[in-house]
Amino acid sequence: MSDLPHYSPQTESIYRRPITAQRRLLVIYAHPDDEAFGNAGIILAARHAGIEVHYICATRGECGTVDDHFLTLYPDVRALRTAEQMAAAEALDLGAVHFLNYRDSNMPGSLDNQNHQALVQAPVGDVATRIATLIDDIKPEFVITFPPYGGYGHPDHIAIHHASMAALAHATWHVPNVFYSTFSTTLIRAIILFMRIIRRNPRAFGRNGDIDVVRVAEEATPITTTVDCRHVIPAKIAAWQCHASQGGRTTRVPRICWRWFYGTETLTRVTPPALGHREVLRFEA
Ligand SMILES: [Zn+2]
Repeated sequence: MSDLPHYSPQTESIYRRPITAQRRLLVIYAHPDDEAFGNAGIILAARHAGIEVHYICATRGECGTVDDHFLTLYPDVRALRTAEQMAAAEALDLGAVHFLNYRDSNMPGSLDNQNHQALVQAPVGDVATRIATLIDDIKPEFVITFPPYGGYGHPDHIAIHHASMAALAHATWHVPNVFYSTFSTTLIRAIILFMRIIRRNPRAFGRNGDIDVVRVAEEATPITTTVDCRHVIPAKIAAWQCHASQGGRTTRVPRICWRWFYGTETLTRVTPPALGHREVLRFEA
C-alpha cells in the first residue's frame, strides 16, 4: 500500500434541499444501489415520518457488472451508476447524496483492488475523518452502515464498515442510535442446502462465483430491530428499479405476496446495545 501514490479525493455533496428537518437519518455504504437494495423501505418509512435522510456513498460503483445496452447514453459505468444513484435519490426522497469519490475496489483478488484510488487502498483514518466531518454537519439521530462482513464480504463493504465505526468514535456529534443492516438467514440456509443437494459449491455462488454463501450465513449479525415498511412497498420497488443496471429492474414476486416478502426490514442495534428482546423501530415521534 505504501508504494502507491497517495490519493485524496474530494467529497461531492449533492443536496436536493437544505437541511431543515429536526430529525435526521444518515445511511453510510459503499456503492450506488447499496442504499436501495439494503434499506429502501427503512429510508422511505423514515421520510414518511418527516425524518431527513442523507446517503454517504463511498464510490461510484465503477466495477459493477453492466450489460452493454445500459451504456448507450453514458460514457462509462461510473457515469451510468451516478445517474442511477441520483434517480434513486429522487425515488427515496433523499435530502442529499455525499459521494466520497473513492474508486470501487471490486471483489477480492481482482486488479481493481490494487488501483491507488480504490477504497480499500485508502487509510481507514482518512476515510473516517471525512465521514466524521459529514456526521458533524448532518447531526443524525440514526446511522445505518454495514456489519463487519459487509453482508457478502465485498471488500468495499468491509472497508466502509471500519471507516464508519471509526468516524462515529471520532465525531464530535454523538449519534444516539447506530445500526448495522442485516437479514434473515432462513432463505440463505435453504439455498445452501439446495446447492449441496444439486452438488454445487455454496462457497462459490453468484454470476462470478465469488460469493461464499456459507460465510454470508455465518457472519450475519443478529436481528435485534425490525421496521414496518408495508406502507411504502410500491415506492421501495420503484427505488430498486432506478438501479436497473444492477438487477433492480423487476420483481418476480406476485403482488399478493409483497407484504410478506417486502413488508419488513431488519437491523442489528449497535448503539445503545440491544436489550435482548426484538424491538420494533417506529420513526414517528
Ligand atoms: Zn455494494
